[in-house]
Amino acid sequence: MHEIGLIQTVMDEVSRVAEANGIERVTKVRLVVGRMNGAIPDALEFAFSVLSPETIFEGARLEIESVPVRLRCPHCGAESEGEKLAYFCPECGGRAELVAGQELYIDYFEGDDGKEDAGEGRDGAEDSARERAGGP
Ligand SMILES: [Zn+2]
Repeated sequence: MHEIGLIQTVMDEVSRVAEANGIERVTKVRLVVGRMNGAIPDALEFAFSVLSPETIFEGARLEIESVPVRLRCPHCGAESEGEKLAYFCPECGGRAELVAGQELYIDYFEGDDGKEDAGEGRDGAEDSARERAGGP
């Protein structure tokens, strides 16, 4: 399953950043997934539930933000949004460019560094790197 590989990549990346920041346990991971990416949110959640036990992700919540497809026309500047990719501008018929809808990246994650004063459990370990986790 394609999603297993994607989640593995995401978990590797989060683990690396968590380790660098002294995070011992990850409590929440938020992903942004474009609707044209091909990854199915339900399958990503399933993959996460399969891969997370006995790792720093055990018990963590996976949140997925599904991003609609957005196109921008380089000829007239019109922007359009939809569930599917349309290659041509609805305004002038020109070839449109995809500006959103293919991404898959870690928006942020939350974790616990094991210290007593962790408060709400959020300690600013955010990773906003827009790393593509797309694969073959
Ligand atoms: Zn146009």
